[in-house]
Amino acid sequence: MQTNKEQYDLIIIGGGPIGIACGLEAEKKGLSYLVLEKGCLVNSLYHYPTNMTFFSTSEKLELDNIPFISNNPKPRKAEALEYYRRIATSNNVKINLFEKVLSVETSKENQHTVITTKERYSTLKIIVATGFYDIPNYLNIPGEELPKVAHYYNDPHYYATQKTVVVGASNSAVDAALEIYRKGGEVTMIVRKPEIGERVKYWVRPDIINRIEEGSIKAYFGARLAEIKEEEVIIETENGTDILPNDFVLLLTGYRPNFQFLKDIGIHLSNDARKIPQYNENTMETNVPGIYLAGVICGGMETHKWFIENSRVHAKMILDDIAGKK
Ligand code: FAD
Repeated sequence: MQTNKEQYDLIIIGGGPIGIACGLEAEKKGLSYLVLEKGCLVNSLYHYPTNMTFFSTSEKLELDNIPFISNNPKPRKAEALEYYRRIATSNNVKINLFEKVLSVETSKENQHTVITTKERYSTLKIIVATGFYDIPNYLNIPGEELPKVAHYYNDPHYYATQKTVVVGASNSAVDAALEIYRKGGEVTMIVRKPEIGERVKYWVRPDIINRIEEGSIKAYFGARLAEIKEEEVIIETENGTDILPNDFVLLLTGYRPNFQFLKDIGIHLSNDARKIPQYNENTMETNVPGIYLAGVICGGMETHKWFIENSRVHAKMILDDIAGKK
């Protein structure tokens, strides 16, 4: 593996919206920096469903006050990809794509070495902005590994005319259920709680509730998917067990940050189920001196707590702190 000769002021891990925001701030402060992204630019967004609409209005997704002009009340995925790409390219944000960070070594003098799939980088500071979209919350039930099961949803066409089970009741599950139903799929939702999630977009929630009430989409509430077989699924409800014929299963039960990566770097996590990483709320610096957190990763298992809208401020907080210490 090559060793990059440059000593960087800052390495930013993750080229999502918040990693890019950090790059823009680093550029303003005149620091030598590099963003490392394991996939394409804004890789998580790229993997969101094709027809996805943001719940935020476009100005709330803006970085560094660069106008995000959308023709829609809420922008769509394709517009967001266009926006973030133009920001990165027009402002020459220094970013290496398709280069995954494997580990970080920290010396006693708090010098860091970032080891990737391609090189080793020496840096004074690191921002971890790796998001939460890489690891699904697995159900760990028999049949979850079958090829007809997916933890990510892309496009409804694939499921047309097919008997499709959607597990979950958050935005992702509801969007998928409605889209597939409207392309002629036979949708059954399996929901652990007694109702559709309260955080579902306010203009979508009545739609799904009405489709369920009129019987267009079947839903089991207070139920769990117990097993997936080649041609059927087994559902446990308060009234017993149901067996349904089935073609495809979408397990849209959320995603989680890569906690092992954080632990390996030396970042402490809270001991409760939330697994909140330890950081100073004023500077975003973690318990490892010189390593900062930015974006949705700050919430641990509370992946709804931070999003683009409210975490884009992390970039300025961190870079002010780094520049102040230089
Ligand atoms: P991410 O966008 O997840 O970026 C992290 C990046 O790090 C990824 O590109 C990933 O590939 C990369 N990465 C991970 N590990 C490594 C590694 N080891 N080495 C190198 N790179 C790595 N938020 C809003 O504000 N408004 C909305 O309307 C909204 N709608 C949403 C709709 C959906 C369907 C979803 C799933 C999320 C939505 N969010 C919304 C949330 C928002 O998209 C995330 O909070 C946002 O992407 C967080 O940005 P981030 O940069 O912190 O993380």
